[in-house]
Amino acid sequence: MTSAIIVAGGRGNRLGAAMPKQLLDLGGRTILQRSVGAFDTHPDVREIVVVLPADLVESGAQLVGATRLPCTCVAGGPRRQDSVRQGFARVSGDAAVILVHDAARPFVDHALIDRVIAAARESGAAVPALPARDTVKRVNLDRRETIETLARETIWLAQTPQGFRREVLARAAALSEGDPATDEAQLAERAGDTVRVVDGDPRNVKITTTDDLAAARASVTPPAPRVGTGYDLHRLVPDRPLVFAGLVVPFDRGPAGHSDGDVVSHAIVDAMLGACAGGDIGRLFPDRDPQWKDAPGLDLLARARAHVEARGWRAASVDVTVILERPKLAPFIDDIRARLAGVLRLPVEHVSVKAKTNEGVDAIGRGDAIAAHAVAVLVPGDRS
Ligand code: MG
Repeated sequence: MTSAIIVAGGRGNRLGAAMPKQLLDLGGRTILQRSVGAFDTHPDVREIVVVLPADLVESGAQLVGATRLPCTCVAGGPRRQDSVRQGFARVSGDAAVILVHDAARPFVDHALIDRVIAAARESGAAVPALPARDTVKRVNLDRRETIETLARETIWLAQTPQGFRREVLARAAALSEGDPATDEAQLAERAGDTVRVVDGDPRNVKITTTDDLAAARASVTPPAPRVGTGYDLHRLVPDRPLVFAGLVVPFDRGPAGHSDGDVVSHAIVDAMLGACAGGDIGRLFPDRDPQWKDAPGLDLLARARAHVEARGWRAASVDVTVILERPKLAPFIDDIRARLAGVLRLPVEHVSVKAKTNEGVDAIGRGDAIAAHAVAVLVPGDRS
């Protein structure tokens, strides 16, 4: 069988991001998830071992997400070669061929994995590589002067996954406690094993810099926006404040109930939760729970925003229609929109609030109730 070790042990600080680069979003999935996914869906691969920074191992299953294959997360070491050794120690004893892949190469495809597996089976070790296109100079770094021009034909740029028969990777791993090596093929070379070169793939780029990340993001299709609807209704009773997005509008009646009856906030909460299939207001904030019993609508909206963001989405726009017979809301609409925009962290032009009457029809028309309909559009959140 074939096993894959995905090396994601680095901190990727060249990208300057707050989180390791392999956890940055790339079109709705993280770089790590895309790399793991390429092996998880490959018909020959039977097992995945992901090597993570030690502090992320506990949340590893969550970071990797659902996989078809058995997937183990292990803590890496100080150097890449140490991380691979840790991963190799956890590979099943049945693995005849073991692939080692950088999580930072999320565009690896099945054709490349096929080539590496086939060559590794046959030759013991295989590395995908691309011939250098530019003229290659050896440079004196202190003096910034060229030393020589290398014969370009013999210069190939190595990628991953690199593939090894078990006994070859075992010999490489035994050497990995010694001198630094930039990849496992180098350790195999040191061990005296033959490393076959197969065609790499120009699309199989390594994401190292912010420019790499921007180019990678531009090349993937972002997930389509999501839309959700929400609705809320409250009876109107005397001597209760009439609240819209936290703003009290002068009137002789207000919504009945334990909460502030803020129909605008409540309808938007449901629309946002609906758009990410994240439940509904009653499930997230049950009114039998004293914590939520009197919670202001705007507080629930702020919490709903955080809930949606935790699922990888953010609101791009909301549109609300309030239905009430009296009072006239027109003088308060801009204030209500500004309050919503503040909590949702949206430009106010992305927040629409409209009001209309029910033409005297039914309970709303009689002035016994108010209601609100909302639509929310969510787009992928920027997790960097
Ligand atoms: Mg309500």
